[in-house]
Amino acid sequence: MPNFIILVVEDEDAIREMLVVVLEQAGFNVHAASSAAEAQRFLNNSLPDLILLDWMLPDLSGVEFARRLRKEETYQELPIIMLTARGEEEDKIRGFSCGVDDYMTKPFSPRELVARLRAVLRRSSKHQWSPQIIAGDLVLDTEQHRLTIGEQNVEVSPTEFRLMQFFMTHPDKVFNRTQLLDQVWGRSVYIEERTVDVHIRRLRKILETYGREELVQTVRGFGYRFSVIQAKQS
Ligand code: CA
Repeated sequence: MPNFIILVVEDEDAIREMLVVVLEQAGFNVHAASSAAEAQRFLNNSLPDLILLDWMLPDLSGVEFARRLRKEETYQELPIIMLTARGEEEDKIRGFSCGVDDYMTKPFSPRELVARLRAVLRRSSKHQWSPQIIAGDLVLDTEQHRLTIGEQNVEVSPTEFRLMQFFMTHPDKVFNRTQLLDQVWGRSVYIEERTVDVHIRRLRKILETYGREELVQTVRGFGYRFSVIQAKQS
């Protein structure tokens, strides 16, 4: 699976925390918000791949928030799954067209949630994805967990594989250590930032044996960038 970013909007702490844990364990990058306003602040800076949106929020209902998002071009295709309580909300959402892709009635099983989420991501037009991510002559196969350069098989650890997966799906952009920690290791993991440097160094060393260490570049004072184009130019 590509590195999907999921925005969870839920005001009940226990449910929100449970959702974060479940989705992170399923391999998603999760950002959590406890109100529509907080979700909006996140959206001002990032575009997630899917929003898991609770119906009842303290400031604005999930339905209203979804409607507002759908009015903006950026969010017209953004998959939204609505969380509802059993009963009245459930009945209402059936008759509603607030533009959500799916809805789930609380309580639900974590397994069902992850399955539905994957189904919605697969259907969404933005993600007609194949298991292969290609950058130049590098191919990363997320189903076979294999990285190849040309015809050669590259041996990488699971962490370096995830790092490469993140880089290859976000090429030509600079990420600092904190961002890489969040995106590759996940926010619930507490490790030091220099761990990022250690893994970058290992990754470069591996790439070096294929003469491709320049694919991962240090941007002084900022962080790291993966680029096939820039590597060719330098
Ligand atoms: Ca709620």
